[in-house]
Amino acid sequence: MSATILDGKAFAATIRDQVATHVARLKADHNITPGLAVVLVGEDPASQVYVRSKGKQTVEVGMASFEHKRDADISEADLLALVQSLNDDPAVHGILVQLPLPKHLNEDLIINSIDPAKDVDGFHISNVGLLGTGQKSMVPCTPLGCLMLLRDHFGSLSGKDAVVIGRSNIVGKPMAQLLLGDSCTVTIAHSRTKDLPDVVRRADIVVAAVGRPEMVPGDWIKPGAVVIDVGINRIDAPEKGEGKTRLVGDVDFRSAVEVAGAITPVPGGVGPMTIACLLANTVTACSRANGLEEPEGLTA
Ligand code: NDP
Repeated sequence: MSATILDGKAFAATIRDQVATHVARLKADHNITPGLAVVLVGEDPASQVYVRSKGKQTVEVGMASFEHKRDADISEADLLALVQSLNDDPAVHGILVQLPLPKHLNEDLIINSIDPAKDVDGFHISNVGLLGTGQKSMVPCTPLGCLMLLRDHFGSLSGKDAVVIGRSNIVGKPMAQLLLGDSCTVTIAHSRTKDLPDVVRRADIVVAAVGRPEMVPGDWIKPGAVVIDVGINRIDAPEKGEGKTRLVGDVDFRSAVEVAGAITPVPGGVGPMTIACLLANTVTACSRANGLEEPEGLTA
């Protein structure tokens, strides 16, 4: 058996189209242009790539993109003042502070200084609490993308056994909350979980968010289960030439694809969904801020 490939790249393109349609409507009917502000502190190369990509896609769907680059030695007070100015700016509907921040800056303090209504990453403590209590919130982009892929595949997730491997605040925990919200029976596994292979084998849905290359082999997967691989790991690829590398997930794709019912590839699975959901969150935030109807199907 060979699994259905859940094509996140193609699905992300359909989400961007929906966002673009809603943006065009906001402009035509209400003269409102949704705006996303991204704050980048320092020179981290991976963060620079992400921010460039976010800015480009923001403009492509018709939204305004505001990039604020600051030196790595910015003081906490100055960064807080920048966030406050974005909170106060009516042209800005979404604010994203690219993580990680340099060590001298308190990430929690900075994130919790963002207006929760503009917190399009969904990391503000208010949004975490709202999600945990099943209320309307801004939902973290990567788990939201995973949920959309799962809903698209299954229709209803009600009653499914789901295992989330990883309990981080940005992926594992919100993912588990979202699956619970869709009436799955959810297990959260982590580095202290006993008999992880057996725990994973019980699941109809496996979400791997560990950060360990190809850790989950096919023989941990229940035949027919749906596997969402969040991991992005760069490993050496001597077969491509000296010094070359390639990206792999947290799941051993080659063995898992033979057992699973459906699986996301890496790259081209969850990754593209994350930025698409950031755009979706921004247009949702803009609609809410203006008391207008939210776009359908773009949030949890
Ligand atoms: P974290 O490092 O914050 O969390 C990793 C989690 O995995 C922890 O809860 C840890 O458990 C658990 N873990 C580590 N080792 C094991 C093990 N041997 N068995 C079981 N559980 C284990 O990572 P993130 O959640 O931030 O990211 C996870 C992966 O997802 C990374 O590869 C990251 O690059 C990728 N990612 C991809 C995104 C995308 O857009 N596709 C976005 C964000 C992340 P414990 O808590 O006990 O230490």
